[in-house]
Amino acid sequence: MHQPPVPHLQDRDPEIAGLVEAEARRQYEKLRLIASENYVSPAVLEATGSVLTNKYSEGYAGRRYYEGQQNIDPIELLAIERAKEVFGAEHANVQPYSGSPANLAVYMAFLEPGDPVMGLSLPMGGHLTHGWSVSATGKWFRPVRYDVRADTGRVDMDQVRDLALKERPKLIWCGGTAIPRTIDFPAFAEIAREAGAVLAADIAHIAGLIAGGAHPSPIGHADVVTTTTHKTLRGPRGAMILSTAEHAKAVDKAVFPGLQGGPHDHTTAAIAVALKEAAQPDFARYARQIVANAQVLAAALVDRGYDLVSGGTDNHLVLIDLTNKGVAGKPAAQALDRAGIELNYNAVPFDPRKPFDPSGLRLGTAAITTRGLGEEHMPQIAEWIDEVVLGTAKQDEAVAGRVAGKIRELLASYPMPGWAPAP
Ligand SMILES: *Cc1c(COP(=O)(O)O)cnc(C)c1O
Repeated sequence: MHQPPVPHLQDRDPEIAGLVEAEARRQYEKLRLIASENYVSPAVLEATGSVLTNKYSEGYAGRRYYEGQQNIDPIELLAIERAKEVFGAEHANVQPYSGSPANLAVYMAFLEPGDPVMGLSLPMGGHLTHGWSVSATGKWFRPVRYDVRADTGRVDMDQVRDLALKERPKLIWCGGTAIPRTIDFPAFAEIAREAGAVLAADIAHIAGLIAGGAHPSPIGHADVVTTTTHKTLRGPRGAMILSTAEHAKAVDKAVFPGLQGGPHDHTTAAIAVALKEAAQPDFARYARQIVANAQVLAAALVDRGYDLVSGGTDNHLVLIDLTNKGVAGKPAAQALDRAGIELNYNAVPFDPRKPFDPSGLRLGTAAITTRGLGEEHMPQIAEWIDEVVLGTAKQDEAVAGRVAGKIRELLASYPMPGWAPAP
C-alpha cells in the first residue's frame, strides 16, 4: 500500500505501477546501506507528486518570465527562508536540478573556462564534479587534485596548502562522496584566503548532519556551499546553493539564466517541506542517531577484523577496505545485495584495483536510522555483513538466502515511510 495511494497509476499504467510497487517492496525488505540514500516522509512524497509539476516559472520570485506565479513565488520564498534559517546562511538558491548542476553553477559563477580548480581526487573520496577528468568540470577547467594521507586515510591539509599556493586555483572544493571523517572547514578557509581562491564546500552527503548539529557547519567559512537535498537531509531529489550575501547575485545568475531553464516547482515545495522537518527537534535526534549508529557499526566491523579507511567514522559513512579479506568489492556488494543488504562497491584510497572493480565497500546509516534502527542493531548487521563476505570468499551461496530472511523479519517491525505491505 502506497502512502499516498496510487489508484490512477495502477489503472492507467499497470506495467509501471507494478514496477513502482515492486521497488517499494524492495525498499521495505532490504537493509538499505547506500550512503547517499534515505527514505523521505509521506509529506515530501505528496509535495513531489503534486500539481506543481504542471507549472513553468523561469526566473526568481517577483521577476518571472511567465504569468500565474501567485502560489509559486510564496512556495519558493518559503523554501529559501527555511534554507537560510536551517543552515544560518545569508543567501539560498533552491533551484538547481540536482547536485551536479548545482556544482556546475559554482564554476559558472566564479570561473572562466580553463581556470584552475582544486578538489579531492575521485578515488580518494572526491566527487566527479570537483574536476575529475571524465567530468565536464575536468575537461573545461584545469584540475588540481589533493589526496588523503596513506597512513591516516584523512585529507592531507599540508598538501592542500602547498598545492594551493603553488597552483593558485581560483576555486577550491572541500567535501566529497566517500569521506568518513569531519571536514575541517576553518582550515580550508584559511588556505583559500591565503591562495586567493573561492572556497566551495560540497556538503551533499552531510547536509542533514549539519542541519541537525551532528557535524560542524561550513557557513561562515566557505564562500559558497552546495548540497543535494536527498541524502542525509531526507528531502526530494534536488539541490541548493547557499552563499554569503556578497556572492548572491553571481550564484543566482549562474543557475538561471546561466545553466537552467524553469525550476522544478514540485521539487522546490518538497524541499521546503523537508527543511521544515529538518528544523524540528526530532531531526537533531535523528542526525545524532545516524552518527551513533555508524560508529557502533564501524566498531563492530573492526572487531571482526575489517580494515576501515581512517579506522572508523565521524559521520554517517563507513568505507571498508576488503583487501585483507581476500574478496574484491564488487562480488562482495553483489553477494550482499542477494542477502538483502544494499550498498555499493567503492574505490579505497591508493586502490591497486580498477575503478569498476575496486577493493572497497561504502555504506551509510541514514536510511536505516530513518527506519528506526538503533545502536543495539548494529552488531547484528556487522555479523550479517561478515557472514556474507566470508561466504563470498568461500563461494557459499546458501548464506545469502538465510541472511535475507532474517533481515525481512527484523525490518517488518520498523515501518517504512510511504509504503506498507497489504495487511
Ligand atoms: C551526490 C553528490 C553530488 C551529486 O549529486 P547528484 O544529485 O547525483 O548530481 C555532488 N557532490 C557530492 C559530494 C555528492 O556526494
